Amino acid sequence: MKFRGLVIGVPREIMKGERRVAAMPDTVKKMVAEGATVLVEKGAGEGSYFHDDEYAAAGAKIVEDVREVFEKADIILKVKEPIFNEKLNVHEVDMLRKGQTIITFLHPAFPGNHEMIRKMAAKGVLAFTLDGIPRITRAQSMDALSSMSTVAGYKAVLMAANRLPKFMPMVGTAVGMIKPAVVTVVGTGIAGLQALATAKKLGAVTRSADIRPDANEQAKTLGSKIIDLGIPPELAIGEGGYAKKLPDEWLDRERKVLAPYIAESDIVVLSALIPGKLAPVLVTEDMVKSMRPGSIIVDISIDQGGNCELSQSGEVIERYGVVIDGTKNIPGTMPTASTWMFANNIYNYLSNLVVDGALNVNMEDEIIASSLVSRDGELVHAGALEAMGLAK
Ligand code: NAD
Repeated sequence: MKFRGLVIGVPREIMKGERRVAAMPDTVKKMVAEGATVLVEKGAGEGSYFHDDEYAAAGAKIVEDVREVFEKADIILKVKEPIFNEKLNVHEVDMLRKGQTIITFLHPAFPGNHEMIRKMAAKGVLAFTLDGIPRITRAQSMDALSSMSTVAGYKAVLMAANRLPKFMPMVGTAVGMIKPAVVTVVGTGIAGLQALATAKKLGAVTRSADIRPDANEQAKTLGSKIIDLGIPPELAIGEGGYAKKLPDEWLDRERKVLAPYIAESDIVVLSALIPGKLAPVLVTEDMVKSMRPGSIIVDISIDQGGNCELSQSGEVIERYGVVIDGTKNIPGTMPTASTWMFANNIYNYLSNLVVDGALNVNMEDEIIASSLVSRDGELVHAGALEAMGLAK
């Protein structure tokens, strides 16, 4: 009985537009079967179409007041970082207590979250962030960031196709053949590859660019034409095989190579990121101007600043006849699929963290060590400390 005696709390997410939830009836059932008491705030799963009676049937206790969930739980499972609860006039951090554990996406390096994580650390909360999970094989089933990227890449193409004033596939009509749409994806990590696969399934012609040769190889297997950026791998690849920030002159060169491809695209999906850094600007205002009116850009990288110079966070705008979609939190727009993956990821993470009904903060375990944010009153997350200028 792995979770024997543990009380696990699942609050309703309060961020505007957030429909996901950190546990679903199936994962509640598994936690209960392993000895946990699971407290689910009333209505927590409604946004993802998981209803209170399903949670209750899975063995959860439905709790009317979220303050009771925070008061009684040993471990709080959430999707988004703690924010101010307008309805109760209290910050979620203020509902946490010393020695309590929280597992969620905290994005601790992001300056907007620094005050919140400092406060959480000072309170003595044991906090773990899912965006800190390393990209290793053993962690794959816990990797919520990858799960959410899969949703973002798929949905970004549907959002673009929905606005596109023409067909995606080639269509034969009585008055002649209609050419397929051209979709260009920049940055083919998890989200970009999913975008390419989706665009291909819809019948578009696809092209893509990435600075990592591995990413280009994977894109090629999805039938994408590869745009050769001509960037030496030693400049592109950093620690652990991940992309590194390119020097300005190489970014300039990349924009020049991309320009003619962007100009003739009907849809551009932007998903180029450097872990823990601001997204590089790869599509300038002039490049947008060069596109045909009616074309669409979806900037999936918007949460890290965006890859298009004109993108606006959380807004869909039109410039020079081109729609630039800066929708934030795309995974939140597909809550059933996102919650299904997220709830399983967080369950697997928790299973790795708990041994015999107690948390085992084993710092030898890379997964635990790199996702730990605060412990014993101290902020320990390396990325957050670096971003705060406090790196040891
Ligand atoms: P990411 O979201 O950090 O970045 C997206 C992509 O942008 C990357 O492919 C990167 O190379 C690219 N990029 C960065 N700067 C660019 C630029 N200037 N121009 C063009 N492209 C640029 O990446 P991700 O989706 O998190 O995944 C990165 C890699 O990690 C993938 O190859 C993936 O297969 C691997 N991965 C492994 C595991 C695992 O083994 N558990 C889990 C997740 C991801």
